[in-house]
Amino acid sequence: MAQKAPTKNRRELAPVLAFDLGGTKVAVGVVNSRGRILDEIRVPTVFQEGKDAVIRQLSELGQGFLDRYPRIKYVGVASAGPLDPAKGILLDPTNFSSREGKKWGTVPLAKLLSTRLKRKVFLENDAAAAVLAEHWIGAAKGYRNAIILTLGTGLGTGMICENELVRAGRGQHPEGGHVILDFNDSSAPCGCGNIGCAEAYLSGRSFTRRARVRLGREDLDAKAIADLARAGDPKFLELFDEYSRVMAVAIHNYVVLYAPEIVIFTGSFANTADLFLEKTRKQLLQLLARRRQGVDLLPKLALSRLENNAGLIGGALVALRGK
Ligand SMILES: [Zn+2]
Repeated sequence: MAQKAPTKNRRELAPVLAFDLGGTKVAVGVVNSRGRILDEIRVPTVFQEGKDAVIRQLSELGQGFLDRYPRIKYVGVASAGPLDPAKGILLDPTNFSSREGKKWGTVPLAKLLSTRLKRKVFLENDAAAAVLAEHWIGAAKGYRNAIILTLGTGLGTGMICENELVRAGRGQHPEGGHVILDFNDSSAPCGCGNIGCAEAYLSGRSFTRRARVRLGREDLDAKAIADLARAGDPKFLELFDEYSRVMAVAIHNYVVLYAPEIVIFTGSFANTADLFLEKTRKQLLQLLARRRQGVDLLPKLALSRLENNAGLIGGALVALRGK
């Protein structure tokens, strides 16, 4: 039952350990049964050293908390995908690779961590975890239909329809970031191997890469680009105009499939929402008005209320519920 807080039982009394594993950073924290983070650490992930090193890093960080909070019995991991939540395995995650660009392949992460931490470990897609958390205690609370877009290294999507988390078939998570928007656009290669995916335009990493290429400025990072746009530089404002147009198209496609009442933005790049949210709303209104006159499908566009803790709190919720 995706919409409910954990039922009152013995497990509710003890906090859980949660991980939020992304393409560049990992957050590890202790979270209580009301979704409050009691203790937390956020560090760069040692991807360049390979997957064994990352798993060792996760185990050591987790063990540090377990030594201090020995009552913890359950562990929840929100991770970038693709992954199989029921089996607890990573399926060659799009944005996880080591220094030589070597992909991870299939990794039984829940089992590996469970052996090392001696606790039961649950795995969930990070965007699914984030939308569950927002629906539990954040911006989607009280909405029956919600979508979250996590804008970071990748573009993750998580959907709740009629108060239930949406899963795809065959144990898959709905990977809205890899909906192809333009299969002719060789300027938009995606980490998944295709070109023109929504993620290839809309993730923070993709936006920054495209901006660098277009302006011939390898020195720029996302924050510098946003600051120059905020200062009114037209070249940089145009980057966000294009971003808003593509974002509106992507959201249009999600809206016609899922009809959310609210779309929530989270992830590190969501802090540039002041540069794209209003423009996206206007473009989206036009696209939806054209398509379904008289039917108001326009969702509310909102920022995460849990900010960059949504994945961590969602990972905790998955452990609290024991799936
Ligand atoms: Zn893709």
